[in-house]
Amino acid sequence: MKVICIGRNYANHAKEMGSKVPSVPMIFMKPSNAINTSGRMVYPNFTKNLHYELEVVLQINQRVSNISEAKAGECYDKIGLGVDFTARDIQAQCKEKGHPWEKAKAFDHSAPLGIWRPKNSFNLNNIAFQLMLNDTVVQDGNTKDLIFNFNYLISYTSQFFTLEQGDLIYTGTPEGVGPVSKGDILKGYLEGELLLEVSII
Ligand code: MG
Repeated sequence: MKVICIGRNYANHAKEMGSKVPSVPMIFMKPSNAINTSGRMVYPNFTKNLHYELEVVLQINQRVSNISEAKAGECYDKIGLGVDFTARDIQAQCKEKGHPWEKAKAFDHSAPLGIWRPKNSFNLNNIAFQLMLNDTVVQDGNTKDLIFNFNYLISYTSQFFTLEQGDLIYTGTPEGVGPVSKGDILKGYLEGELLLEVSII
């Protein structure tokens, strides 16, 4: 199983990172060891600036490649929430050197995942989602602000990578990313429903 992540898919997040909005989806991956359903995140030793990024996640339901945008909606039937944990200091070093991002993004347990909901219960182009850090809402996104929508992302990525049943697509984070500390609790809400909780330890 693989985790495909989309970078800079909300304009205001690209802006807060000082980055341009991409003209095609920006893709990176995390290995299966990144998937974390434990409800806990051990603060890694190698970073001093671990950031949360709350993202809507799609779960692929079949093996497909080169799928058209028109048929991409048939390739997933569950959506949920995940955190794309990022070692922001390591990422800055990688960016500066023009190196790949994996050390900053794809490390063990870096992709917490909550419980799933059927895709059909949502208007996919207008899903509100929020992240609370302790008692404060720190991210307040809506899929209407996606630069590349779900079907486009599935179609685009399937040109390069065969998607397998169970593969996950993290569809990008809205603005408001920031650091966590040991003892913090993150809670992710999809249309007001708590789907994800992660304690930083
Ligand atoms: Mg992200």
